[in-house]
Amino acid sequence: MSTPTGIFLFDTQSRTQKELIISDGSALRIYCCGPTVYRDAHVGNLRTFLLADLVLRLAKLKGFDSRLIQNITDVGHMGNDFEDDSESEDKVIAQAKQEKLNPFDIARKYEEKFHQDLAHLRFTPAAVYPRASESILLMQNLISELLSKNHAYIGKDKSVYFDSQSFASYGAISGNRLDALKPGHRYDYVDDGKKLFHADWALWKAAGSRTSMIWESPWGEGFPGWHVECSAMALHYLDGHVDLHIGGIDLRFPHHENERAQSNGVTATEAVDVWLHGEHLLFEGRKMSKSAGNVVLLADLIERGFDPLALRLCFMETKYRSQMDLTWKAIEAADATIKRWRNKYQEWRQDVSHVDPEALQSLLRGIISDLSTDLDTPKAIIKLREIERDESISRTTRANLFEIVDQFFGLGITDNRSIRVLGAEEEKLLNEREIARAQRDFAKSDELREALLARKIKVIDTPTSQTWEVI
Ligand code: AMP
Ligand code: ZN
Repeated sequence: MSTPTGIFLFDTQSRTQKELIISDGSALRIYCCGPTVYRDAHVGNLRTFLLADLVLRLAKLKGFDSRLIQNITDVGHMGNDFEDDSESEDKVIAQAKQEKLNPFDIARKYEEKFHQDLAHLRFTPAAVYPRASESILLMQNLISELLSKNHAYIGKDKSVYFDSQSFASYGAISGNRLDALKPGHRYDYVDDGKKLFHADWALWKAAGSRTSMIWESPWGEGFPGWHVECSAMALHYLDGHVDLHIGGIDLRFPHHENERAQSNGVTATEAVDVWLHGEHLLFEGRKMSKSAGNVVLLADLIERGFDPLALRLCFMETKYRSQMDLTWKAIEAADATIKRWRNKYQEWRQDVSHVDPEALQSLLRGIISDLSTDLDTPKAIIKLREIERDESISRTTRANLFEIVDQFFGLGITDNRSIRVLGAEEEKLLNEREIARAQRDFAKSDELREALLARKIKVIDTPTSQTWEVI
């Protein structure tokens, strides 16, 4: 029996907000396209990966179990996603040549770094992170099934291709219907007799001159296509059905369109209920790219002394479906907010005031309702800021509320990092310092900063106010 979750998300395929349903009544089955491990994940990739964590946390907060699978693409992702041309090279192999390492060593190196990033950002771990290179048999089985169901054919070059015309609803996710996908521009199709139709794609690629990362198969030595790995892993590890599929907006086409054709082709059902796509992240107004030299990593934030969780807060301050322009200034402000919330939380919980259960429940309901409405994290954060300032809500109630909602936000608000309750004199000095700074009385402001330092309290200026931590 299926279980509705009351969580609604925008589904790219139906272009509507759809309720997440636990189709087997036991655990929400989620698949999130994982990293191609030939380089460090940049903050944009992390924004997309956060989506899976947010859904898992929200489901948990509402009392539901989930099972997340996130693949590791260590083979088959070619430099050019749109072509099956022989010029295109596997991203991992190309990087291995550059770093003069074995492709598997490259893949493991960046996979390890990916896991470090996830841990820094407190992402809920997936149940399994299957590697493509270790799932070859799963993919070969799926390809055999597609061949037997006439959704695939063996080309003259001994590669196996998906027959896109055999799948009538091709294009349902992206709107790129086959009749509109004429050869040209992106499909710079060369009729070399290998595949029968320009929009077909390789499920299994004949090794040709390639000597590394190749496997035996019923069709000869070769390697899998990138699209087929996600179908094979999702269906295998999630038992034939995906309640929610997550990825960045660029994967909508051709990756997810092709994945849908493959998965539906073998299951003869709609294999995925909801297709969730996160919009892209820009940095300081520009697309991040190696050639522009503006790729920002989580390690860069940490090096500048920011709490990695400041990135979480920044991401959640923008709707996941909006393109977002991340700036150092925004990261700095988020870092200060998290510190302030941690301090406030410690202060509030020292208070002996009573918890108002009704107020707490009503505030919680409001926040969970925002989150359940297409993950409206910005709206929920505005509410948190209002609650923070609302003296009519008892301090203990506020402490309790922040503690509960942080199970979703994951900002470490209850972490007891270098925090203590301020004495009355210290509170007074901090207030005076804030006023002096606002009045641009820098001499007095510096004097008060020193006085606080002597009490082991370090004042940190932020663009709009000040925060502090214990040293
Ligand atoms: P990749 O490692 O390149 O396969 O990408 C991993 C994930 O990051 C995919 O879901 C991409 O759609 C996503 N992604 C790539 N670039 C960005 C970006 N600038 N902002 C947000 N997500 C991105
Ligand atoms: Zn994928």
